[in-house]
Amino acid sequence: MQKQPFGVLLKRAARLACPRCGEGRLFAGFFRMHTRCDNCNLKYERDHGYFLGSTYINYGLTAVTITVSYIVLHFMLEIDNRTLAVPLTAISVVVPLLFFRYARSLWLAMDCFFDTTGFESDDG
Ligand SMILES: [Zn+2]
Repeated sequence: MQKQPFGVLLKRAARLACPRCGEGRLFAGFFRMHTRCDNCNLKYERDHGYFLGSTYINYGLTAVTITVSYIVLHFMLEIDNRTLAVPLTAISVVVPLLFFRYARSLWLAMDCFFDTTGFESDDG
């Protein structure tokens, strides 16, 4: 298999599509992934704990969201900390849930780009 350009992989990740063929869907439900691509048979979870790395992506996005929100709301709009505590806590719970699928698809796309091992064949 020819190595896919990173832009193509990012577009497939944004569509929650298979990084190899771009046709198969990654998720069967909001949190439940398909085991393999129904189009090209790529195994999504490469090994046990494979998607642990996606939690770092998810955590990073959440941290950036909270930090930017706090800076804008507290320092620019001058909203006090007591008022911000509950909404920012809610954001820190909701953002990881909403970004869960995209963190996994981005992780899969990055792995497909940086280490093509196992993405060439249906064996994995
Ligand atoms: Zn596929």
